[in-house]
Amino acid sequence: MKVLVLNCGSSSLKYQLINMDNEEILAKGLAERIGIANGLVKHEVAGKDKVIINENMETHKDAIRIVLNAIVDDKHGAIKSMDEIAAVGHRVVHGGEKFTSSVVITDEVKATLEECSELAPLHNPPNLMGIEACEEILPNVPMVGVFDTAFHQTMPKSAYIYALPYELYEKYKIRKYGFHGTSHKYVVNKAAKVLGKPLEELKIVTCHLGNGASVAAIKHGKSIDTSMGFTPLEGLTMGTRCGDIDPAITTFIMDKELLDTAGLNNLMNKKSGILGISGVSNDFRDVEEAADNGNERAQLALDVFHNRVKKYIGAYAAIMGGIDAVVFTAGLGENSPETREAVCEGLEFLGIEIDKVKNKVRGKQTVVTTDDSKAKVILIPTNEELMIARDTVALVKK
Ligand code: ADP
Repeated sequence: MKVLVLNCGSSSLKYQLINMDNEEILAKGLAERIGIANGLVKHEVAGKDKVIINENMETHKDAIRIVLNAIVDDKHGAIKSMDEIAAVGHRVVHGGEKFTSSVVITDEVKATLEECSELAPLHNPPNLMGIEACEEILPNVPMVGVFDTAFHQTMPKSAYIYALPYELYEKYKIRKYGFHGTSHKYVVNKAAKVLGKPLEELKIVTCHLGNGASVAAIKHGKSIDTSMGFTPLEGLTMGTRCGDIDPAITTFIMDKELLDTAGLNNLMNKKSGILGISGVSNDFRDVEEAADNGNERAQLALDVFHNRVKKYIGAYAAIMGGIDAVVFTAGLGENSPETREAVCEGLEFLGIEIDKVKNKVRGKQTVVTTDDSKAKVILIPTNEELMIARDTVALVKK
């Protein structure tokens, strides 16, 4: 069974076509600059040369059409006909409180997603556009929505209620939702296999450290807390997002810098984080390089980031009553030995002992603690697309 996985952003679309009989990626790529001039699609098929298609795309529907044509193209395609696509799995950022797991997309589901758009105004509308475009282009193909928030819906109320007037939760559903759920779920399941124990017996902290970053406390297979909140802005210091700050700073800056809400949102989401502190870049590679060359603010940005991740691991060990493993994943978690070492430094009291030699590894599933380390630190490459495709198959087969 071949499944197309789509991740629609505001001006981009990532895709993978996966043969779910053997979980092999048949084609993958990225359409960029949708709705802007100089659109392009980078398309890759196993065993063939990568191609770049320069074509403008006014809407997500145009992008999906170009992607599907590339997938069935005689020369650089992966399949003969679109009829071979048995189902489409869509990444959807916000499922609100309604979706606690993935769902087959129906008109009712679409209406609920529309309601959730208020909670994720930047993300859900393009996700919905992708769904509607597929309905038109592949009218009889079943579709499944897989939510970033769903895995965290097991959090207890004590973890997700903010200490604001309770009516605001009732009126506007202001609460912690958490994101990156598909990734946290994927890596925690892998971690249980690496540890050779049932997930239901384990206490694991998963650290998804990419440009966006979040940590989750997963006790006995259930997410019981996570660092992102009502929006992805809460929690860790990120590439360009500030993460946790004193909430009173917001009104203070608005007064001093004469910013409106849009200006403040832009400052906290796009100009802060390691970019804001270092003044160098939002990419950790650039900041690590600058720090190595003696740039003090770059080093400070990294120190702040490491400190924040470490604090969350400690807090989550406390709420779970211990820790069996810490998992590192995503761009930085998978590729930066320096980050893993700095975050785990001083965590010996939790039974964590990094093996500096084993830790010199990138992008490969590996235990990076010593054989004697009571708690394990594991690098696990994430695979959100595969997770989406698996859920899609499971629901479509029902
Ligand atoms: P997102 O999906 O949130 O955009 P990714 O998971 O792709 O993020 O991670 C991207 C980030 O990972 C980059 O900003 C970069 O900082 C970091 N990264 C990738 N490779 C390396 C590396 N070799 N060393 C340090 N950081 C890296």
